[in-house]
Amino acid sequence: MNIQATCPTLSKLAPRRPLFIKGGYVMTMDSAGDLADSDVRIENGSIAAIGNNVPTHDAEVVDARGCIVMPGLVDTHWHMWTSLLRNMSGACGLPYGGLIVKLQPAFKPEDMYLSVTLAAAEALSSGITTVHDWCHNLPTIEFAEQDLRALSEIGIRARFSFGALFGLKGDQLMDLATLRRLAQHWSSFSSEGRLRLGMAWRGMLDLYFNEKGQVCSRMTPEAVWRTEYDMARELNLPISLHANLASADATHIGALAERGMLYSDFQIIHGLSASDTDIQAMAAAGSSLSVAPVAAMRTGLGLPRILDFERAGVKVGLSIDSTPFAGNADMFALMKLARMVENAVNHTEFAIAPRRLLELATIEGSRTLGLDDQIGSLAVGKRADVIIVDTRHVNMAPFTYPDHMLVEAAQPANVDTVIVDGRIVKSAGRLTVVDTTQLAAEAGRANLAIRSRDPSR
Ligand SMILES: [Zn+2]
Repeated sequence: MNIQATCPTLSKLAPRRPLFIKGGYVMTMDSAGDLADSDVRIENGSIAAIGNNVPTHDAEVVDARGCIVMPGLVDTHWHMWTSLLRNMSGACGLPYGGLIVKLQPAFKPEDMYLSVTLAAAEALSSGITTVHDWCHNLPTIEFAEQDLRALSEIGIRARFSFGALFGLKGDQLMDLATLRRLAQHWSSFSSEGRLRLGMAWRGMLDLYFNEKGQVCSRMTPEAVWRTEYDMARELNLPISLHANLASADATHIGALAERGMLYSDFQIIHGLSASDTDIQAMAAAGSSLSVAPVAAMRTGLGLPRILDFERAGVKVGLSIDSTPFAGNADMFALMKLARMVENAVNHTEFAIAPRRLLELATIEGSRTLGLDDQIGSLAVGKRADVIIVDTRHVNMAPFTYPDHMLVEAAQPANVDTVIVDGRIVKSAGRLTVVDTTQLAAEAGRANLAIRSRDPSR
């Protein structure tokens, strides 16, 4: 199993070179706070120095005057393989689940490569430097290989969570042999540690959509869920699970807690119907929550619940989820929406501060993925995942309060420069790692081809 080295739409990743980000408003997102008119020097993919009057050491200068310099944004759950189906959920009367079940069998391994490349290109362009690629379209190992190849070649940081095929019957085991094989050979896939492996788990309840598109659930046999869970623990993998989306699966977190199955690397997605007891159990176990505000509301599942979990001490991160219904991967809009929901629900303008949302989108998001020792804030020794947001654009000027500017006014188009692991992947507002015009054209052709192969046509 080797990742292919070449790709028609991607140039090879540029070698790292020393970088000197000059004169920006640096938001470290850690105890050092904000540093006006400051510099960041990057060497060997990590942050070597931050502050005023940092020596350049002959590094390549990136002018950040008039810009905010901050950690790259962190997504905590995204079904990247669905990006070729962007904006199709709900069209032709098919809800998201129905759309995925219908078109998933028409995907080929090369579609996985293209879809994940499209999603990752959008992420990088939007300032998201880390993604949690939650993959549930893996009928053969080639699908996993092509997904991982896309993540590797484009240069993004990711956790790849290996899941059961979407729609797999609840009494059938996911492909544990392939998961074990990937785990045993992970050094071939990890791209110098940029990529991590996890399990995208179905859990103890089998979720499915009925003919009306409503979420339903039924118990999975213990022989299935216990075998899958035990494999993840044996391989020392983090587990991620969609749970308590609706009333149909409102017992899921409680059932896991009852059996002592929650732990610090266990991520719950959504948690919309979680009880206070469930939330307390997650906090006690150190488990995290991935909140997808756009997904929760766009699909009619309900309102996201950030403060309920935060107040109990649960680690919380933000997530894109899936662009067939989310449309795009705009983390700025997502922060803004999350804030509006909490303010509206709590009947105050001050329910959650913009600074806290920025923390959720950076350092807290990295904490939920177990990456906070590497990324999520700008500090000497951390890996250099950095974005530069140009505040001189008409939708952001004048320069006032940077945390408010980012949550209330910023858009992906304001992201001028993106650096992942010390490599520039976006410069002067343009991606350097992919020809986006060609990528969009290929995505269009692939979308039509997938629809033409729809087995239910
Ligand atoms: Zn999801």
